[in-house]
Amino acid sequence: MGTRVVPVTNPVEGQATSLQQLARGLLDAWQGPVCAVDSESKIVAVNQVWRDHAAAHGGTDESCGVGVSYLDTCDRAAAHGGGPYSVDAAIVAQGIRQVLAGSLGQFGHDYPCDSPSQSRWFNVRLTPAVINDGMGAVISHLDITELHESQRSIAHQSLHDPLTDLPNRELMLDRLEHAVNDADRNGLEIAVTHLDLHRYGQVNDRIGYRGGDAVLVQVAERLQAQLRPGDTLSRSSGDKFMVLWADLDPDRPGVAVELSQGLVHALDDPFDIVGVPLQLSASAGVAMHTRGQSVDELLQSMDAALQDAKSRGPGHVARFTHEVREATTFRRSLEADLRQALVGTVTQFVLHYQPVVDLASGRVAAVEALVRWQHPVWGLLGPDRFIPLAEATGLIHQLGDWVLEQAVQDAATLTHQGRELDVAVNFSVRQLDDRTVAKLQRALERSALKPGRLIVEVTESAIVEDQEGTATTLEALSQLGVKIAVDDFGTGYSSLLYLRRYPVDILKIDREFVAGIGLRADDEAICASITDLATAVGASTVGEGVETMQQYAFLRSLGCRQGQGFLWSPAVALDKFEAAMNSCDQVPVAAPRSLGAPPRQSLDPEVTALIAKMHAEGAPLHAIAAALNRTIGRNPSGERWTAGAVARGLPAAGIESGIEDSNPAPFVLICNDVEPIRRLLRIGLEQAGFAVEEAADGRAAMARLIQTDAPTPAVIVLDSQQAPYDAWWAIAAIRAHHTLDDVPVLLVTTATAKHASVEADEAGFDATVTKPFPPAELVKAVSRLATTGRSVPGGPKSRFR
Ligand code: C2E
Ligand code: CA
Ligand code: CA
Repeated sequence: MGTRVVPVTNPVEGQATSLQQLARGLLDAWQGPVCAVDSESKIVAVNQVWRDHAAAHGGTDESCGVGVSYLDTCDRAAAHGGGPYSVDAAIVAQGIRQVLAGSLGQFGHDYPCDSPSQSRWFNVRLTPAVINDGMGAVISHLDITELHESQRSIAHQSLHDPLTDLPNRELMLDRLEHAVNDADRNGLEIAVTHLDLHRYGQVNDRIGYRGGDAVLVQVAERLQAQLRPGDTLSRSSGDKFMVLWADLDPDRPGVAVELSQGLVHALDDPFDIVGVPLQLSASAGVAMHTRGQSVDELLQSMDAALQDAKSRGPGHVARFTHEVREATTFRRSLEADLRQALVGTVTQFVLHYQPVVDLASGRVAAVEALVRWQHPVWGLLGPDRFIPLAEATGLIHQLGDWVLEQAVQDAATLTHQGRELDVAVNFSVRQLDDRTVAKLQRALERSALKPGRLIVEVTESAIVEDQEGTATTLEALSQLGVKIAVDDFGTGYSSLLYLRRYPVDILKIDREFVAGIGLRADDEAICASITDLATAVGASTVGEGVETMQQYAFLRSLGCRQGQGFLWSPAVALDKFEAAMNSCDQVPVAAPRSLGAPPRQSLDPEVTALIAKMHAEGAPLHAIAAALNRTIGRNPSGERWTAGAVARGLPAAGIESGIEDSNPAPFVLICNDVEPIRRLLRIGLEQAGFAVEEAADGRAAMARLIQTDAPTPAVIVLDSQQAPYDAWWAIAAIRAHHTLDDVPVLLVTTATAKHASVEADEAGFDATVTKPFPPAELVKAVSRLATTGRSVPGGPKSRFR
């Protein structure tokens, strides 16, 4: 072999030979094809693998390429544009030139090499070497197919969900980024949907984690089947899936919602894992991309829509709209206020206490602590307005700690006629964790409250939702001597099996069923069976929301132990506690009745005739209720009537009658003593096309309304709290005034004033909005009243009062 691979200065024959042999050995030792090229890139030597490779691929040329220019070969392949290797060849050609010119120390490049039977990857590496007295190079090739594949699978794994093999959040975000840019540039319509499975946690409880995983895989498959080409489905977290809808038809604005409904319906058929049929449902939120909107904004809109859908219940698909945005912004600001209130030095929270009465003796036996929030702008807010928010944000822990501390401290003063009362405290399920027991123990130690006087109330649905952790905590609490009450009993969905697993002392019959006593046989049957059930598991019962003597008497006849409700007293602040206790003592004790014959309330014929007459005359429900309440003296059970109760007693078709468009003038008077709220309402109402006037209290409102040249408002909005000229003062004045008794009036109130709803009806309000509310809610209520007017034009109060 006449080729010198390794440069030798002043070669001595023997040395040259051994060096050549060494070089040959080195070349052949390389496990991939190797060649050496001179400064002109001409191949001067190849190794054994190269030869074998050439032979295996049908090479007949004895030289195996020796003498050929490596660079020419690359340039030819590169020039063959569109050929499979043209780009790689161009890159390698460039590398060779640089190495041979001495401007590059090393060069390497990975390239694919597909044959019909297999596809492989190679790495080509150029190392400069002096060859034949010039700057040449050794060019080695290595088969890196395996390395390449493992790298590729790592890359795949980092961008895909290992369970479903769907793109993960990161990949989805990347695609979304491109889609959003593309949409902006080319004016395309795209949308995103977030889908959340409902109660997926229960699936794991029922069939274990492996089963739960299998369900997720099936869900992914069903969802995938709903996609069109170009759409992307990803699993964004545990039980949430996200879809990017590409290139939607701009002429069909509802198409993204339709597609999302398709996703939700795809889960309708039961899933079958290990022979257990499982029914799943989901909610979904959709957001359309608007021009110039960032990915973050789009995702926020999507999640706001999902929240909205979830608040409507499983199976719903909600689209992001202006109102959703408003509700979200509103929720955020309220959340910020709540956070602030919890760190503030002056507490904005207060506990109100509602007496719980022993039905047989009529004596107060316990009190339930119910939290309220004295909001700096919105006034006193009821728990329904902020507990769900506190739960969703985790702030419930701090709030719950405060409630417990305060209730336990107040316990010393919660006595009546020398008797110590039990104290019931509500717990959210999220508060029941492994720290609860120690926390409660410390709170009890610091106060003089005996554990037996403390009742922990947990809602039934909460217990049903998280069985494991809750059971342990409740068990430990029970060991301490604390009593456990199941709140809102009867509203949960699950089997009653858990009653055996939990140390339950008290079942609280939900007020929804109590409200049906005397009106609906099934509600009465539910009250009866809950009482029976409690007896069977050794628990006692409390009837919630008792408003009438009839409900009291019925519950007592069932053997229900205790009751609480407006019949005795609403929840009151500590300074009104004594007065509330005394008012409880005024309520007569209902006579016991035999258990065998629960009283079946039918309407007194005289009362029925009165309802029929007033209804025929077109009287609104609240007016009928007011008239009925005046007949209480003749009613043996002495119940109070609400408009709702009257409605349930009337034929359904008649209820809507008498509504007509009586007052088109779009002028609204808002009466509220808090300036920021007035401003907020004004903005909302003006945007909706109303003219707005403001008054700071009821008297100012009346002064404005009775001016002779004043236009009659389409709607009056009265805030309930602005003593002494509050909404109650103002409504009496309005209804008594001959030009105003037809004007619909909206009451703005707080959830804590629930007992006011009966009175609101009677007083002549036409609708109620509960604080706090997003402005859109109020605008909607005002618009409705402005178009329908009062339910009966002509002033029912003047006829029936
Ligand atoms: P709940 O535990 O079912 O409390 C009873 C609710 O019914 C109270 O509403 C009470 O004012 C109301 N109520 C009482 N008697 C009557 C009646 O005769 N008729 C009617 N229609 N309603 C009556 P409130 O105070 O608005 O509380 C609502 C819910 O907020 C409570 O329902 C409870 O689940 C939750 N909550 C209240 N305080 C706390 C708390 O400190 N922590 C937690 N986690 N939740 C609380
Ligand atoms: Ca409760
Ligand atoms: Ca309850």
